[in-house]
Amino acid sequence: MQDSIFTKIVNREIPAEIVFEDDWYIVIKDIQPQAPVHLLVVPKKPIATLNDLDEDDAELVGAMFLLAKGVMSKLGYTDYRTVFNCGPGAQQSVFHLHLHVLAGRPFQWPPG
Ligand code: AMP
Repeated sequence: MQDSIFTKIVNREIPAEIVFEDDWYIVIKDIQPQAPVHLLVVPKKPIATLNDLDEDDAELVGAMFLLAKGVMSKLGYTDYRTVFNCGPGAQQSVFHLHLHVLAGRPFQWPPG
């Protein structure tokens, strides 16, 4: 697939506020935050959507939640929302897998 915005961020071709990075993931601040804290946990492996996962990706996806937990714990949050949007009908706009992590305001259910 063509390099996504997130791959360009990983490659330092475009700037972003990076909260965490290791060999496999980058965690950035969302450029259009929907809450006082709005982070994106992004695997460096360029998987377009949840529909493109295969069995070998189970550990990669599971670790995204552990990373979210660790970052939010460091920021002092125990209450937060995690969201994967999958496909245009669910408002996915960047076709490189990412987990939204939002905190710092009350949340409604169901989401819009
Ligand atoms: P989604 O709509 O679920 O695909 O989420 C993509 C998210 O990426 C949106 O919340 C955007 O605000 C965010 N986003 C797009 N471009 C950038 C960027 N350059 N830096 C940080 N976040 C971005």
